[in-house]
Amino acid sequence: MAQTLIWLPMQIVLYPHPSLRWKSRDVTRIDSQLRATVEQMFELMYEAKGIGLAANQVALPLRLFIMNPSGDPEQTDEEFVFINPEITSRKGSELGEEGCLSLPELYSDVRRADAITVEAYDLDGQGFEFTLDDLPARVVQHELDHLDGMLFIDRVSESAKKQLAPELDDLEVHFRHQQAAGEIASDESLQSELETMAVALTRE
Ligand code: ZN
Repeated sequence: MAQTLIWLPMQIVLYPHPSLRWKSRDVTRIDSQLRATVEQMFELMYEAKGIGLAANQVALPLRLFIMNPSGDPEQTDEEFVFINPEITSRKGSELGEEGCLSLPELYSDVRRADAITVEAYDLDGQGFEFTLDDLPARVVQHELDHLDGMLFIDRVSESAKKQLAPELDDLEVHFRHQQAAGEIASDESLQSELETMAVALTRE
């Protein structure tokens, strides 16, 4: 039963959907279903004009994210899939503007490491290691935060938090309104859906 959940029409969830605060679990199986999921994630990311998308953002409780720093679907050589990623080294620090597909229209400066080394697995189950800087390094740090249930708004200055507060309130009001109207399930049932999927999807 749980296996079929992944085939529900996938969409990018918005703040404050509980999956954005979920600490994702390691992927234990790379199969055709996972490949199809990743393909759908790329489609959604391009539709939304994004350059990175984490599994949490499509309500999947898995440690996996995708990236294409060019944002151009034609540039498939810029497409990367990071499964069970880990940052193994961080150097320097740089302030740069970030946005997020789950927080539409919100932008703020976020301090990130300037250069990172990241290890992950690809869709063939092959381990790889990249040393990245500039935009790709920022995207990887932003997306990896998602897998730990963190959002860029958690990393901005106090004054930026104050500036973002009214827009966050608007998103929250809209989300609760959709829940009240029955268009989105309650937090409790969304949580238990994530639990069920996590168990089914991470079974060895
Ligand atoms: Zn994001």
